[in-house]
Amino acid sequence: MGMTPTVAIVGRPNVGKSTLFNRLIGERRAIVHDLPGVTRDRITGPCQVDDEKSLILIDTGGLVPGDDPLGLNKQVLQAVEESDLLLLVVDGKSGLAVADERVCHELRSTGKPIVLVVNKGDTTAAKESQYDFYSLGIDRQVLVSAEHNLGLGELRGAMADLVPDFEVPEVPDVPRLAIVGRPNVGKSSLLNRLVGKERVLVSDQPGTTRDPIDTVLELEDGRRYVLVDTAGIRRRGRTADAPEELAVMMARRQIERSDLAIVVVDASQGITSGDLAISGTAWELGKASVIVINKWDLLDEDKRSDLEEGWQRLDEVLAGPPRINISALTGRGVDKIFPEVEQTLERFNTQRGTSELNRIFEGLLRRHRPPAIEGQPWNLMYVTQVKTAPPTFMLFANRQLPHRATYRRYLVNGLRRELGLEGIPIRLVIRKR
Ligand code: GDP
Ligand code: GDP
Repeated sequence: MGMTPTVAIVGRPNVGKSTLFNRLIGERRAIVHDLPGVTRDRITGPCQVDDEKSLILIDTGGLVPGDDPLGLNKQVLQAVEESDLLLLVVDGKSGLAVADERVCHELRSTGKPIVLVVNKGDTTAAKESQYDFYSLGIDRQVLVSAEHNLGLGELRGAMADLVPDFEVPEVPDVPRLAIVGRPNVGKSSLLNRLVGKERVLVSDQPGTTRDPIDTVLELEDGRRYVLVDTAGIRRRGRTADAPEELAVMMARRQIERSDLAIVVVDASQGITSGDLAISGTAWELGKASVIVINKWDLLDEDKRSDLEEGWQRLDEVLAGPPRINISALTGRGVDKIFPEVEQTLERFNTQRGTSELNRIFEGLLRRHRPPAIEGQPWNLMYVTQVKTAPPTFMLFANRQLPHRATYRRYLVNGLRRELGLEGIPIRLVIRKR
């Protein structure tokens, strides 16, 4: 199973990190300012490095105030820690600076691969100074101009070469669970509760510092689960002030490698946009989720009603997800998590017979006639389930239904209701016959 690698763009202020970031994610609305430290639009974005490989870029410049001479603070170091490759950006126009050496020293201590990006390569000064930067001791060096789009192809090539190929070995037939959520919601507290009680079979040893470490748990009844990236959860628990966008990106990496997301939210803060973004990611990736509402011990009446109001939105995003109220602090409700996970996985792995499905669709079509598509009636011939996890159904029809069609949504929702698959992302594939 693959995992999208992450690349952090690091360097002292004003070297052109933000310009480079925008260039690499292919957005032209690059907000670049002569005033350093002006707030950026976003700090993470997808970047395609070649036909096959894509990765997630982090602009760490968005994480430092402009007067920080090194551009390294706790948040940046955390982003570096979570990354698989580092782009150290330097300013060729102003030449090698003491701050570059210090940033470089810091980055090398992580042992991660580094590409040295000499920016502002459109200037004569950069062309002349570029070789001075070899004294930093980084072999892979590329001269670019982020602003003028020079050398970016070579940079993409270097990134494609150096980014690791993740093929994480999987434990066969054991469901994989990701404990995810915004910083500070109580993920590591919950993890300790869960792991404290059960037998830990294996905690893989990392091959390298950036390998995710998973833990295999065995419950009393013999069921086994893999908890994905437990080392990361514990580590992040100590630096809990990461910006939300970074937290969502990290959650995505964990969710990609799992079957089910245990999305932890903080009851005392209500449902936030970050909670919705993380839940939406699990949904979009076609994974099951269980929502765990933590810190229940902190609720008073006002907070409780805020929470229930916010819940409506989460309930919509995940089409009726399972929910458990807990306190990782007192242990309340924690026992209910694995039984709920088990039931949710059962529904996620459901396999339905063709006759049942066809009966359900006949009913749905009778209740609401399909609209004409391009002036022709839409006729459904036959439905069958082609895949589980997420449940995927193939509909043979005389023509396509547009993805955004209201009628498609009606069919998906009706099918979910009839099959009792609330909270499960289900997919409809329509084949023209
Ligand atoms: P950051 O603080 O490292 O993110 O730097 P910015 O991306 O905000 O850029 C700082 C300044 O360098 C801005 O004035 C940019 O216009 C300028 N700059 C960025 N890339 C280039 C380049 O390739 N050539 C030149 N000449 N200037 C650039
Ligand atoms: P993480 O960043 O999501 O891993 O969160 P932590 O597990 O590090 O918890 C963040 C803070 O919330 C810590 O101070 C915990 O002691 C506290 N916390 C965690 N669970 C609970 C809970 O159920 N009730 C209360 N009152 N505090 C909690």
